[in-house]
Amino acid sequence: MSETTLVNPADETVIGTVRHTTLEEVDAAVDRAVVAQRAWAALAPVDRARALRRFAATVDAHIEELAQLEVRNSGHPIGAARWEAGNVRDVLDYYSGAPERLIGQQIPVAGGLDVTFHEPLGVVGVIVPWNFPMPIAGWGFAPALAAGNAVLLKPADWTPLTAIRLGELALESGLPEHLFQVLPGRGSVVGDRFVTHEKVRKVVFTGSTEVGKHVMAGCAAQVKPVTLELGGKSANIVFADADLEAAASGAPGSVFDNAGQDCCARSRLLVQRSVLDRFLELLEPAVRGFRVGDPNDEATEMGPLVSKGHFENVAAFLDGSVPVAFTGTAPDGPGYWMAPTVLLPTRTDRVATEEIFGPVVSVLPFDDEADAIALANDSIFGLSGSIWTRDLGRGIRVARGVESGALSVNSHSSVRYAAPFGGFKQSGLGRELGPDAPLAFTETKNVFFSHS
Ligand code: NAD
Repeated sequence: MSETTLVNPADETVIGTVRHTTLEEVDAAVDRAVVAQRAWAALAPVDRARALRRFAATVDAHIEELAQLEVRNSGHPIGAARWEAGNVRDVLDYYSGAPERLIGQQIPVAGGLDVTFHEPLGVVGVIVPWNFPMPIAGWGFAPALAAGNAVLLKPADWTPLTAIRLGELALESGLPEHLFQVLPGRGSVVGDRFVTHEKVRKVVFTGSTEVGKHVMAGCAAQVKPVTLELGGKSANIVFADADLEAAASGAPGSVFDNAGQDCCARSRLLVQRSVLDRFLELLEPAVRGFRVGDPNDEATEMGPLVSKGHFENVAAFLDGSVPVAFTGTAPDGPGYWMAPTVLLPTRTDRVATEEIFGPVVSVLPFDDEADAIALANDSIFGLSGSIWTRDLGRGIRVARGVESGALSVNSHSSVRYAAPFGGFKQSGLGRELGPDAPLAFTETKNVFFSHS
């Protein structure tokens, strides 16, 4: 019987084991989900809405428990973990309005009338990475359930505990049995079966670009819809006319939040050459003051990396070949701790082009607006990014010029559940969140009514 031993990344203590779901068990779960989905879709919309509101309320009553679980399992700072659990509640609340608003069109045509319906897909498989186990799960399962589907959720190997608890809370809230099943296990077994099983009618995959391509190819074999939320190497562009103090004080949080294990991390800091020295002077104290330490401490801004293996992957990028501008601090002793690190690479160095997924930022100077846009776009990725300028026209021009799915001007905001989220280029395919997300879990059907 295979299982994963779970380790607290802050102190390397073993916190438990989780058994892997087998292929046969996945297939049995799919069969149960098919039956549960039919009954769910047949409920009156108001009853599905009420059930989702109750699920949200049950999550709300367990925010602290979920947050504490995430602190132990993922090493997230407690303040961040509370926000993540609260995000699941908020996203469920937001989409609880959807069952009663899946409205079609009526289209006058010759000889009668066309009416469109948004029919649920059936069973949806949601595959989640380890970096934000709760929010990323919720962004998939909440709109999918709201649209009348059943959901099978596969958490990442190392971070399944909050997902398992959310599955229990769904049942406690009264959500029908087997409608929302959490299946921990290997990506190559459970996740892959979502792709190959014909009765799983859509896959929502969030994770690396490499695995995402594999999932997309597998889904193509069955013409199965897929949402892909993949890697990033996002640019934080600071123009000379910006509020440099504000841009510098926010920059550490924009890349070191969640120890840089954030698809939206602004891991390329593009600074106009004429203010580079001044900006670095402002950035240094902000980085040194970024509080890295005990995740249970309310004041902590950054915890450890998620695992030993991931720590080694990130550390391999810091091989001494690229000048280090300065670093922050990190605790000694057990745990996968790494200090926030600011590098001064050339534009073609590996650290400046590849996703590191750790607390490492590359500072790259640029000359003018055109150079900034070209540099920001010189990437296979296009997920997120920030633009700092006091010139409104420039803010608009650059935001339109940067090939990225989620941008913020004079802020580092990334994901807001009321707005669509997703990447350009190899950062992804499709959009999560926003008011239209439930429609992505439906097929649109048109029915012609003859009036003759
Ligand atoms: P990963 O691709 O290794 O794994 C993601 C999930 O896919 C895990 O649950 C894993 O078990 C599963 N998986 C692995 N192999 C599979 C297969 N063959 N078939 C189906 N499922 C499989 O990614 P990770 O290391 O867990 O996460 C980090 C990556 O996720 C980074 O690249 C990051 O940028 C990306 N990410 C993207 C977003 C976004 O919204 N764009 C959000 C968070 C993370």
